Amino acid sequence: MSTGFFETPIEFLKGVGPQRSELLKKELGIRTFGDLLNHFPFRYVDRTKFYKVNEVNADLPYIQLKGILKNVLVKGEKYKKMMVGKLVDETGSVDLVWFQGVKWIAPTLKLNAEYIVFGKPGIFNRTINIVHPEMELASEAALSTASAMQAVYSSTEKLKSRFLDSRGLLRLEKNLQQQLTFRIRETLPQEIINELKMMSRHDALVNIHFPESVQKQKLAEFRLKFEELFFIQLRLLIQKVIRTEKYKGIPFLTIGENFNRFYKENLPYTLTEAQKRVLREIRTDCGSGKQMNRLLQGDVGSGKTIVALLSMLMAIDNGYQACIMAPTEILANQHAETISSLLNGLDIPVTILTGSTKTKQRKIIFEQLANGTIKILIGTHALIEETVQFQKLGLVVIDEQHRFGVEQRARLHTKGETSAPHILVMTATPIPRTLAMTLYGDLDVSVIDEMPPGRKEIKTVHRYDSHRMQVWGFLKKEIELSRQVYIVYPLIEESAKMDLKNLMDGYESICRDFPRPRYQASIVHGKMKAKDKDYEMQRFKNKETNIMVATSVIEVGVNIPNASVMVIENAERFGLSQLHQLRGRVGRGADQSYCILMSSDKPGHDARQRLKTMVETNDGFKIAEMDLQLRGAGDLQGTQQSGIPGLKIADLTKDGQVLQAARNIALKILKEDPHLGLAKNSTLKNYLSDHQKKQGDWSRVS
Ligand code: ADP
Ligand code: MG
Repeated sequence: MSTGFFETPIEFLKGVGPQRSELLKKELGIRTFGDLLNHFPFRYVDRTKFYKVNEVNADLPYIQLKGILKNVLVKGEKYKKMMVGKLVDETGSVDLVWFQGVKWIAPTLKLNAEYIVFGKPGIFNRTINIVHPEMELASEAALSTASAMQAVYSSTEKLKSRFLDSRGLLRLEKNLQQQLTFRIRETLPQEIINELKMMSRHDALVNIHFPESVQKQKLAEFRLKFEELFFIQLRLLIQKVIRTEKYKGIPFLTIGENFNRFYKENLPYTLTEAQKRVLREIRTDCGSGKQMNRLLQGDVGSGKTIVALLSMLMAIDNGYQACIMAPTEILANQHAETISSLLNGLDIPVTILTGSTKTKQRKIIFEQLANGTIKILIGTHALIEETVQFQKLGLVVIDEQHRFGVEQRARLHTKGETSAPHILVMTATPIPRTLAMTLYGDLDVSVIDEMPPGRKEIKTVHRYDSHRMQVWGFLKKEIELSRQVYIVYPLIEESAKMDLKNLMDGYESICRDFPRPRYQASIVHGKMKAKDKDYEMQRFKNKETNIMVATSVIEVGVNIPNASVMVIENAERFGLSQLHQLRGRVGRGADQSYCILMSSDKPGHDARQRLKTMVETNDGFKIAEMDLQLRGAGDLQGTQQSGIPGLKIADLTKDGQVLQAARNIALKILKEDPHLGLAKNSTLKNYLSDHQKKQGDWSRVS
């Protein structure tokens, strides 16, 4: 009976009917009773409290006023109508404003009647107003006094035009609750509920919509947030259990000749403590007989490459091959170069395979991979094409992970059959802990939290376009000191054409402002052939040119220590993590480095926040946290592709503690009962199998 209830089409609810049900589906994705029950309020308002007009200011949240409606005026053209009215009480009057829906709201308003008005005060032309208030005749205000905490729901203009504003939705929730004549089934084992002193699922679903008290609302919220995050964690961790059982790991038992020789003779510097610690973690994993699935986080420039190389040497010493995948050809080439030169004197063949490797060469490479001649293969996505077969692949390193989709990583996994290669995923995009736990919850995580010694902080400034000449003057001084400079232009897929024009215009004016032969500029962008890109990169690297004009193709991983200035044009158009990545291209040598963020004279609010954050800190994790705050988790790079279902109630920017609690409990349960076979966990097992099909296999990372 209860499942039937949840699946009941929404049009059968009192107050809905066919037209509204279509709208609810289209606008909010609400198709069934269950969907409506899970359409949670985004805030509550105290409906026992009425503000006086003279207390209203723009800093207040949603509030309630009571007063007489006066002076309603409709202004403007047919399609751009707006309406203004005044709400008057004994302390004064406040403007009420409508920009939308005037046509259908106007006829419902009663002049000189007493209203309860509900909305968020704002400010316009230095007067306080309330835009799109919800209006309720005081004489009909039955609902509003029902509870001190009244739920507020998000709605849309279209729904509002069918009288399904927040209050309309609340009415539907009420009707729904009246039909709830049974107890909603529990999804969590009683043991957990007791342990965390949680509210039952039934009470939570009642109290989230109609809280009996502030305390009960809090309990309801915790319970529902916990549940949401808990099942994500449980699923991720079960994947891990399954993977561990399905794939035997390849044990790397020895630290051998190559590793030791390299460490003694070739290592150009001492490893940082953080690098050593991470290497130990990798070694323990790879020696354990289980398959390693490890995420290595480390800010740009923290020295991940050497860790990857030492891990690959471990594989080779144990008789296996290793490969490293990079997101771009430039990066793959650079890795190949760095790694070959680091390996100088050791007899370890390194080969590169990318999209532009010629067919003939490709054939040879395939042969040598299959017969085990090639020990280290470096490449791009081309590596995961079906045709690439290794003789004995022991370790796969994926660099700059965020460019690799889940699916690509999954494909990699099928390369080995029953014993899978160890996988090390490296990312330079610091991810806030909460997000990492959700996106990579089935991976083990290592962090390099220490920079190589001797690095100077990159000085970052924000300059407006109107100060360009001063900035150019600064660049010339740096170039006089034989340093090199990047000037980067935004690249956004949808307007690639315009961006390219932007870049070319910029390049031309740079060539004018920095005349030859004193100054030489290179240019690199996404539309160029790989060969030409490489040629230009080489010229810059060899110091034949002193300015590199580029789109964000250089974003990831390029290492040119003599470059000491990064100018980012239209910096307001870049996201925080991208800005941070770009800045990481400088500050790699001994010189003081600079990052200059150029923006239009009037960046928007969020853009200004981003630029300010960049100026204030060099710490990638702080930047990632800020990014999460500004954008919300759903927008962060990688989240979309990851297929993590949208969270309904939990918020990764705020609910770190709930998430941690959920993960701990999930870990504890699986430790005791990895297959959820015990009777006390049957609720969990049932829930997972009920919800399996809907969600798909989204949690499979690598
Ligand atoms: P990322 O983590 O961004 O991939 P890289 O591996 O490219 O960083 O390293 C950045 C630079 O730091 C390189 O020039 C590398 O040679 C240097 N480096 C790495 N580890 C150390 C260390 N322990 N001491 C000194 N320099 C180091
Ligand atoms: Mg790197």
